[in-house]
Amino acid sequence: MAVDRAKLVRRQHTHLLLPHAALDDPQRALFEAAVRPAGWVRDSADTSSIALQWRRGQATLRLQTLGWFPLLVTVGAIGGATSVHRDATARLTAAVLSSGGKSLTDQQLVDYLPQSQQRWQRALLERQRLAQAERLLQARRCTACGAWSDLSTTHCAGCHRRFTSADDAERDAGVDRAATTISEAEAVLAELARGVVLEKLSGVRHG
Ligand SMILES: [Zn+2]
Repeated sequence: MAVDRAKLVRRQHTHLLLPHAALDDPQRALFEAAVRPAGWVRDSADTSSIALQWRRGQATLRLQTLGWFPLLVTVGAIGGATSVHRDATARLTAAVLSSGGKSLTDQQLVDYLPQSQQRWQRALLERQRLAQAERLLQARRCTACGAWSDLSTTHCAGCHRRFTSADDAERDAGVDRAATTISEAEAVLAELARGVVLEKLSGVRHG
């Protein structure tokens, strides 16, 4: 009978996927609450924005971000893994599962990483659309000279001509389009963070 070797080798790292965009304060608090009762203390020397590190006696545990949208982390011992590390990892896994997340095997991680990369690229694209649209809600562009003026102003800050009613209509249409873009981009970012697969995202498709 074939022996499943994978089950014989004790895993050194645990990979967790959490339905949030990044390692922000609520996720840090979730991880912290999971291991603190077991005596783990945050490493005060660790100020990384993408990692968390705890100590318990001589043992050190590190949680490192591998991806965003949704948050992908890997947890492991620094040095040899012992029963206290495995207990901490089990606590972190339980916290993630109870928050709607899941754990990935090494093979699932390898399979998922390219998608994680694509998701992050898509998120950057949506953030860019968001920033451009937000600008259109604050400023209007002169069709004659190209200068930007305050959205509600009547005269161009560049060439000082008075905006025509056609210019105003164009501005208003631009504001409407920008508002639509913002709600689309925000919806896609929320879906990316939640873990909705790329093919099923709402809004405009991007090659
Ligand atoms: Zn102008």
